[in-house]
Amino acid sequence: MPFEMRSKRVRVHILRDGAAGKRRRGERRRALACLWIKTAFRSRGMDEVFDRYLTALGQIEKLPAPHLVRYQQGLVERLVRHARDNIAFYRDRLGPVFGPGDRFDFSRWPEIPVLDRRAAAQATQQMRAPHLPESYGDVHEISTSGTAELPLRFTVNGLVSLAANGALTQLCRWHGVDTARALATIKLYPDDDVPPLPDGIQMKGWSRAGPESDAYGLDMRAPMEQQLAWLERRRAPFLAATPSHAMAIAFAAGEHRARALGLEFVFSIAETVLPRARQVVKDLFGAKLLAIYSCQEIGFIGIECPVSGQYHIVVDNALIEILRPDGSQAGPGETGRVVVTGLYNYATPFIRYALGDVATAAAGPCACGRTLPLIAQVEGRTRAEFIFRDGTRMWPRGIHSDEIRTYVAYREFQLVQADYDVIEFRYIPQPNAHAPDFDGLKSYGRRRFHPSVDIRALAVAEFPRGRTGKHEHFISLVSEDRH
Ligand SMILES: [Zn+2]
Repeated sequence: MPFEMRSKRVRVHILRDGAAGKRRRGERRRALACLWIKTAFRSRGMDEVFDRYLTALGQIEKLPAPHLVRYQQGLVERLVRHARDNIAFYRDRLGPVFGPGDRFDFSRWPEIPVLDRRAAAQATQQMRAPHLPESYGDVHEISTSGTAELPLRFTVNGLVSLAANGALTQLCRWHGVDTARALATIKLYPDDDVPPLPDGIQMKGWSRAGPESDAYGLDMRAPMEQQLAWLERRRAPFLAATPSHAMAIAFAAGEHRARALGLEFVFSIAETVLPRARQVVKDLFGAKLLAIYSCQEIGFIGIECPVSGQYHIVVDNALIEILRPDGSQAGPGETGRVVVTGLYNYATPFIRYALGDVATAAAGPCACGRTLPLIAQVEGRTRAEFIFRDGTRMWPRGIHSDEIRTYVAYREFQLVQADYDVIEFRYIPQPNAHAPDFDGLKSYGRRRFHPSVDIRALAVAEFPRGRTGKHEHFISLVSEDRH
């Protein structure tokens, strides 16, 4: 979704000074435009509106923290009022943040119940707004399909993809990616919309800032040799793919052929990025991987900082909380579950939504000088929580995969907790690598996971891709969070 502009008829309002519209007395009027752009600009062209939006995003990223907080709370208030007033599901849930005189009180935000994915899967029909003004953009239905998760059926309105395109373009500007040049996307398309072989699909304007740029698309289930030949014909300098699939392409091509593709940037979508993917993209393609953290329910959540390599939160589109098991805010360096509120999905609002990810909170401020809050690392799915016989719990993290590589050299791996005291390390061996040290691996497992654990290494030829097309690095068969 991040690379599609579905909403051709989105109209945009401009509102100065944040979203909720009410300025505090005496406060200097700020020329901050967000997507709620003033009606005065309605008659102007989309390109001009988008240009203004990018300018606004450029201002937002440097706002002093208190202004940034106030700006975002304005967006939150606008969404929350809409949800409470129009959607019965949210009426009581959102009660805590409305004080005497119907005043919005953000300090009581943590009292809103967290909506987990399982509850959302059951309630998405009731979470939908019955109707929306046209200015929110065309409303589309989206179905997610997964083998490991309950499917979600929800709606999104056009502003979500417009905000996503804004964040994508902002990411490009940060990293010096020229949005006038071509982008090839290899991803899982819906079954009824698979691009034809061998040429795939071709469109224009993957970024609104480059309406004439070429955008090519191919399904990731196409035979690998055809994918490579297609990339060789298209010669796009940019590729968008899941990091595991980008690695699979690189390995299939081999170093010489991979490098000859002339890729400069690989946008990593849909999966957690582990450090190894960056290295493979650099070593084999000679390209730089740029991480995007997004989901279909909400759009863009975080984009990679060019200086620190961490994720800056897309504050104009998403409010992020990283929470400990007791619901309190995780501190810098702590890992917790991600709770997100999508600020532009008015069709099916997701408010305090635990989308099923685990992330590590970062310590600010960022060395790049941007004031946007940070996530240090998105680590994986909550349902991959490893639980041991004595009740100890942990989430396996990217650092584990790097450390394990010193014992067993792999191209790709999967760490599966098969039982309370058994972890299976499934891996595709790295050719011509050092001999595996299985004893070292076992002792690592006892040291870093749990003293009771027996890690068993299992070499495999490949990992089957499920219906989502995503590769999961960490799987727990004992987690209570399995759906
Ligand atoms: Zn930064």
